[in-house]
Amino acid sequence: MIVRDRSDRLTSARYDEAQDSMALLQIFDPKARPEPIGIDLGTTNSLVAHVVDGRATCVLDCDLSPLLPSVVHYASHGGVLVGAEARDLAAEHPRETLVSVKRFMGRGADDPETRRLGPYDFVSPREGESNTVRFRVRERVVTPVEVSAEILKVLKSRAESHLRTVGGAVITVPAYFDDAQRQATRDAARLAGLEVLRLLNEPTAAALAYGLDKGRTQGTFAVYDLGGGTFDITVLSLDDGVFQVRSTGGDSQLGGDDMDRAVALDALHAMGFEDLATVPPTLVRRALDAARAAKHALTDATETALTIERDGDAPYVRTLTRDDFDALVRPVVERTGPACRRALRDAGVKPEALDGVILVGGSTRVPLVRRYVKELFHHEPLADIDPDQVVAFGAALQADMLAGTGPREDALILDVIPLSLGIETMGGVAEKILPRNTTIPAGRAQQFTTYADNQTGFILHVVQGERELAADNRSLATFTLKGIPPMPAGAARLEVTFRVDADGLLSVGAKELTTGIEQHVEVKPSYGLEAEDVERMLMESFEFAEQDIAARQLRERVVEAEQVLGATQKALTIDGDLLDEDERAELEGALRALRDAMQSGDRQAIHLRTEGVDRAALPLAERRMNRAVQRAMSGHALQEFEEELKDRPVHPHLVGDGHTH
Ligand code: ADP
Ligand code: MG
Repeated sequence: MIVRDRSDRLTSARYDEAQDSMALLQIFDPKARPEPIGIDLGTTNSLVAHVVDGRATCVLDCDLSPLLPSVVHYASHGGVLVGAEARDLAAEHPRETLVSVKRFMGRGADDPETRRLGPYDFVSPREGESNTVRFRVRERVVTPVEVSAEILKVLKSRAESHLRTVGGAVITVPAYFDDAQRQATRDAARLAGLEVLRLLNEPTAAALAYGLDKGRTQGTFAVYDLGGGTFDITVLSLDDGVFQVRSTGGDSQLGGDDMDRAVALDALHAMGFEDLATVPPTLVRRALDAARAAKHALTDATETALTIERDGDAPYVRTLTRDDFDALVRPVVERTGPACRRALRDAGVKPEALDGVILVGGSTRVPLVRRYVKELFHHEPLADIDPDQVVAFGAALQADMLAGTGPREDALILDVIPLSLGIETMGGVAEKILPRNTTIPAGRAQQFTTYADNQTGFILHVVQGERELAADNRSLATFTLKGIPPMPAGAARLEVTFRVDADGLLSVGAKELTTGIEQHVEVKPSYGLEAEDVERMLMESFEFAEQDIAARQLRERVVEAEQVLGATQKALTIDGDLLDEDERAELEGALRALRDAMQSGDRQAIHLRTEGVDRAALPLAERRMNRAVQRAMSGHALQEFEEELKDRPVHPHLVGDGHTH
């Protein structure tokens, strides 16, 4: 259905130094079209790339490096340093130097994870203030969005010095980023003065850079991304030329930093330190730096010298072979195995059924990692595009396509919703409107009605997750729809529309169809979910599935029973005279039995007793109908039967039977 042709660029989507330095001599056309860019906003390193003559290439800094360390230092004079200079200050000024700020994006200040993530001086939100994370650095207070914007500003100006006019940007985000984290990324871009053409999932970007969408319409691929401090595994499938995320997994605390630590620890032990707590911090820093340098050297060499400077002593020097290194880091590498196997299982594919495995992230340069991936997936991994740059290349290619003159649908890239989105209905039941794994962009409407007579408003509580009860899911937003004229229960027609755009952002609309009253919210939840939260929520939903369904069915029965109880009691109050004594006693007995059953919490009993009340109320219902008709014919309005008006919004009631899965 959707066919893309970029074969010319993809073979050359590779960093090419000669090409790049030539660009410095290019003569700019002042009327030139602004150039779209692609940005990999990484936890450890960030990059910006663009497309020249169909080839993706990274913009280099003055040291000819494509990488900008994602580190921001707030200096005493109010200045801000970003990149390698900032990173070099991190050890000395840990609280003024923010590293790995991506981990905080879209997170809440009250999230227990937040404080565990860094040595920073967190500002607690005051009453009524938003719940976003804020850091105190020197005399100012900054948010993760602002810190990320500093990184983006440097990338933007790097691109500007090279391209003159920068157009819109495609920015990559991890596949597991939720609405809040995606929104935070967009906000950071806006703050940096960038127009976001689209947010693109990192693994999808890597697949695009490899042109895996070329020459085929179907396929399944794994993207193995081992960076500095995070590991992500994603299974993608290509359907009709469109990529979809089938499953994601990983470990947000695993990466090249752990390799550095393993090597540094070993050296410090060899230097005679038994207890690491006794090692001076500067020596720890030097050992880590030396370990990283040795690790990088051992990618190509089979042997290198590990040198650690010591104050007042000769430097510690030792020869480290690749075998020594492999033995030290093997446990780190093997920690990626379980998540990979789980991701394959979740996607329902066997390693043999994969059409390819892509390596992403600086740490996949380590030869041991490549061997391990091959073992794990039974495939020689694709690695000929620089794993540091492959995501930025994919983003640039996508940006080029989006800004291009070709038809827009060409660039349609579909991802899926990681967790179901829905609303709370009567009885606290979560009604899923967009189920998990729905391909985005997506939209769906569902009809609801009023539960009580004369209900003039609805509470719309938007929730995310797989559990059957709203309270067990994550609350994203609450809003009300008011001003509906009084109508009997079930007469109002509420249409709730969920739309998730191509960036994965959710907007919810609610419209009462008989009056046309409507409300709309953009859902910007106050904090985000990490990959492992998504995983935990999914695990819980499996674990509690039976229990949850039982709870949901019970709630549904209770809601139904309450409705019948309310309506019958009302009828009895208004028209009780229509029954003889026996009939009345029987009906009252049935009502009592239903109330007792509701107390017991026995779903089956509630159901039976509800039916019992319905049966016992039949004569009353028939006679009321006759009386109503007679009254109407003698000129009385039907409204006389209605109680006084209530003005209390309640949760909507699903039209038709509540369903169970
Ligand atoms: P992120 O996606 O988290 O921003 P990157 O993909 O930039 O991270 O990966 C950074 C990691 O890659 C660091 O731990 C770095 O030491 C490691 N790395 C970079 N080059 C090499 C190399 N030649 N050999 C081994 N590890 C490398
Ligand atoms: Mg990365």
